[in-house]
Amino acid sequence: MIPNDFIQTLLARVDIVSVVDRYVPLKKAGANFAACCPFHTEKTPSFTVSPSKQFYHCFGCGAHGTAVGFLMEYGGKSFPDAVEELARDAGLDVPRAESTGMATVREQAADLSGVLLEAARFYRAQLKESPRAIDYRRWLQLSLTTRTGRWRLRAWSSRAKAANATTAFAIASCFPFTIPVGG
Ligand SMILES: [Zn+2]
Repeated sequence: MIPNDFIQTLLARVDIVSVVDRYVPLKKAGANFAACCPFHTEKTPSFTVSPSKQFYHCFGCGAHGTAVGFLMEYGGKSFPDAVEELARDAGLDVPRAESTGMATVREQAADLSGVLLEAARFYRAQLKESPRAIDYRRWLQLSLTTRTGRWRLRAWSSRAKAANATTAFAIASCFPFTIPVGG
């Protein structure tokens, strides 16, 4: 466990501008720095990094966080790894405050993940066997087919009109599974 006050000390020591700039080149924009957002596609920069507040914020997609958060979101790092990387840069050692109850917690977590795994196996088996699950899967497939069918129908009916073919033919071609031909 990393003590919370260490995180505060660390965030006060590192500069988020240089951290972000390593991955996303920033440009000075008034009191802040800006770039095209790395979390969504855009042509004009709405991603800003504030050196005074020490956080990043995107006005386009709402991405927001500290230097630790950036390494996690952008770099895909775990919380301890992000803290470790920043601490290395700042020349600090990450204190590990392992409480006496940690061993118990870890055991409980191992038990819990066993239970979850068992539950996941059970539900997966049920998906194949339970009549309600089978109905649901059929409904899902049907609704996807119908939706795709509707899009195809629009394209087909305009093409069919142009070709002077009958709409019925177009519908029958679009719904080979759901509309009985000549029925
Ligand atoms: Zn964004």
